[in-house]
Amino acid sequence: MADIIQLLPDSVANQIAAGEVIQRPASVVKELVENSIDAKATSITINIKDAGRTLIQIIDDGTGMSETDARLSFERHSTSKIRKAEDLFSITTMGFRGEALASIAAVASVDLKTRLANNDLGTHIIVEGSVVLSQEPASCSPGTIFTVKNLFYNIPARRKFLKSNTTEFGHILSEFERIALANPTVEFKLYHNESQLFSLPRTNERQRIVAIFGKKINQNLVAIEAETSIINVKGFIGKPENARKKSGEQFFFINNRFMRNPYLHKAIVNAYKNILQPDSVPSYFLFLEAAPDSIDVNIHPTKTEIKFEDQQAVWQIIHATVKQSLGKNNIVPSIDFDMEQGFEIPVLTKNTEIKKPFVEINPFFNPFDEKPGPAKNQNKSISSLEKENTANWEKLYDGFENEKNLTDDLSSTSQIESQQKLRESNFSGKYYQFKNKYILTPVKSGLMVIDQKKAHERILFEKFMFSLESNTGISQRTLFPKSIELAPKEHSILMEIIDQIKMLGFDISDSGNYCVTVNGLPADSSDQEPEQIIDKFLNEYLNTEIDIKTRAKEKIAQALAKAAAISSSQALTNEEMSELVDMLFACSMPNFSPFGKKIISILKTEEIEKRFS
Ligand code: ADP
Ligand code: MG
Repeated sequence: MADIIQLLPDSVANQIAAGEVIQRPASVVKELVENSIDAKATSITINIKDAGRTLIQIIDDGTGMSETDARLSFERHSTSKIRKAEDLFSITTMGFRGEALASIAAVASVDLKTRLANNDLGTHIIVEGSVVLSQEPASCSPGTIFTVKNLFYNIPARRKFLKSNTTEFGHILSEFERIALANPTVEFKLYHNESQLFSLPRTNERQRIVAIFGKKINQNLVAIEAETSIINVKGFIGKPENARKKSGEQFFFINNRFMRNPYLHKAIVNAYKNILQPDSVPSYFLFLEAAPDSIDVNIHPTKTEIKFEDQQAVWQIIHATVKQSLGKNNIVPSIDFDMEQGFEIPVLTKNTEIKKPFVEINPFFNPFDEKPGPAKNQNKSISSLEKENTANWEKLYDGFENEKNLTDDLSSTSQIESQQKLRESNFSGKYYQFKNKYILTPVKSGLMVIDQKKAHERILFEKFMFSLESNTGISQRTLFPKSIELAPKEHSILMEIIDQIKMLGFDISDSGNYCVTVNGLPADSSDQEPEQIIDKFLNEYLNTEIDIKTRAKEKIAQALAKAAAISSSQALTNEEMSELVDMLFACSMPNFSPFGKKIISILKTEEIEKRFS
């Protein structure tokens, strides 16, 4: 048989590498800005157009490149950052694999202007699809300008895979946040479609966090610090009462590099045990420092996954540091630390046996419970019943089988009507609220338990969907116009969907400087401050991916329904409960929340009777 193995041409090999390193416009931003940081830039400007589809431009005042280096920089495995294999274990730069520029140039058109400070002239190179189209001397300022146009122009499949501009720009913002947080002493400017989103002066870590996430985060930040022989930890953790659902403000940096680390994430969350609302995640910004030879950065092409020589010890140190500072700041009243003597963080080596620090806590303490005590156990009666109970809405029909109009193939309107009729004949009109969370009401087949928050979410969701489809949202004026300052990222997202938001009944306008003025909220919103509703809405919305146009409306309605619904700890009057139940059964899908969670459960009469037999 003839020889069949061939070396791939460079352009193909580079495209394959690009598949790993350059997944979307945000990856280009990350790689280029990291190169600027490695080139010791003190000021970096980022220009983006159409979420990076048409233009990504990075301007830095770093070292620049010589003519030869400029040309070489586009070759695969060309790097100035390591020379030999051992260097891989003492990485102090962001890049070292020498594949980013080659990858970008394989899938886009790249224009590079660069100049060393000591040279009068710089170099101008244009590369497209791995082919150098031109190279000539040029006059430019010291430093480097990379201009990347038409990303994935030669890979239509990739281009098609890009999500909406909102989503892609969201990814760019996330990369930007990470790099800007890791490098507070570097000045950053970010423009999208020619409007300036960020102008971050050189500063310290705390001020940088505030500049990115808005002033209101400042009072939420608790400083933490620890020095050990394995790792140094410093940074900020959020107060438990400000923890939000889902993620968004959780950052680990190791030697100025952002990293993902679900394992160490647990060390933090674990330290907040018993002082967080269920499902909420505390904010944290942890800047870790470790000897370069004790970590491995080279385990993933994007270099955001990092292996520690001794993960367990790092876990213990972070856990103890967070716990200590929560205790020291009186955030955890029941932790019994000896403050006078300070707090010793054990320095461990790989072979030391790890013992969990002894911390005395009241296992039943729940700051969110009005009365102390074993709240979990009390709650269990309902939740375990809910699980055991397979009854659903259909079971409400028990005993009504003979009634007319109750066939399966009812159209939705007649279904609503029949449900309403059923409701009238079936409900006693007696309501009892349990734990300020559930509405209990006797029905024909037993005792119906309704989750009030989820019920309200369903009601609002259907209303919002209707408003979006028909453009008929009703606004309820707030007493006074309220001005709300948003984080720049929140502001830019809100502005992109402001038309839809208005359709839902928000009377809201942009008042400049990342501020919005709220004059009205969607009718039927719960009794919360506009600020709270908008904050929850944006948080929910930012954490949901929006893929296809048709689903976009649904996501907005979902996020807003969740934000504007009554809480699961709100006392309700009999009238309010009755109205809520009425509205719920007027919904087309009263059984499930917009997030697919169960709203109604029936505790059957026989089950109750069995308990007393
Ligand atoms: P890596 O960063 O892994 O070394 P890249 O492909 O990202 O690989 O860059 C290749 C080389 O080009 C870098 O090692 C560096 O010498 C040079 N380079 C890239 N961007 C810049 C910049 N903005 N300023 C100065 N030199 C740069
Ligand atoms: Mg690089």
